[in-house]
Amino acid sequence: MDLGIKGKTAIVCAASKGLGRGCAEALAEAGVNLVINARTEGPLEEAASAIRDRHGVEVTAVACDITTEEGRAKVLAACDAPDILVNNAGGPPPGLWSDWERDDFIKALDANMLTPIMLMKAVMPGMMERGWGRIVNVTSQSVKAPIPVLGLSNSARAGLTGYVAGTSRQVAPQGVVINNLLPGIHDTDRALSLDTAAAAQQKVSLDDARKAREATIPARRYGTTAEFGATCAFLCSQYAGFIVGQNILLDGGATNATL
Ligand code: NAP
Repeated sequence: MDLGIKGKTAIVCAASKGLGRGCAEALAEAGVNLVINARTEGPLEEAASAIRDRHGVEVTAVACDITTEEGRAKVLAACDAPDILVNNAGGPPPGLWSDWERDDFIKALDANMLTPIMLMKAVMPGMMERGWGRIVNVTSQSVKAPIPVLGLSNSARAGLTGYVAGTSRQVAPQGVVINNLLPGIHDTDRALSLDTAAAAQQKVSLDDARKAREATIPARRYGTTAEFGATCAFLCSQYAGFIVGQNILLDGGATNATL
């Protein structure tokens, strides 16, 4: 399917691996030129070169921490007029409500709420002027149903979701479309680290921890980064202009809800 976005330019944050990489690959397959970001230079450059070779698009790699003001400025300087923005960053650590102090919340809010908000604020005026823009925020299924060990994530992502609900309706008249993608468990390093923590806590093997989690998902497996990326690319396509301010769950049916 031709997504109608060939030749456009996208910033994809936190994209050397995992879900961000899946989004970058799918946008590149649709002919979109990319500015991709991650903190570690080696894997980021490798990702950029693999994407260039596979899809023949321009890929600029910007190694920096997207959760800092300096990092965001570097990424924005590499791309002065993006048509597409995919907001993503590492998730907060697991724990219990009793573990976290104010500083832990500030870190989580900075990374998973204020970073995407600041990037949206920076790119939206240009998109509105040009009359076209697509923004996808990678959040989490925890927005629909809280995950007990991820209280920091539950809190920060709920804040971002509230911001998007209001803001998406304010920029839609100028052709800027913002939506959130809510991953359930996907096969990435993040899933591995959460399973490792669960295995240690429950005193079971990593394999058993994963099998136990798979059993809770109606699809009986973890999602793939390719599936996630394809959904992101569709939300960035010409065909997604009437999908405004939505929270789209990709969780293999794990969240047991009618709506
Ligand atoms: P991942 O496999 O660990 O990949 C994370 C990617 O982000 C890497 O490229 C990493 O590279 C980069 N990154 C991390 N922190 C960054 C920062 N501060 N600045 C720039 N780049 C950064 O993680 P993932 O599974 O794709 O998860 C992505 C997001 O989705 C996270 O917020 C996670 O909590 C959320 N999520 C994931 C799942 C899941 O099942 N995988 C489910 C729900 C929600 P560097 O380390 O080199 O920076």
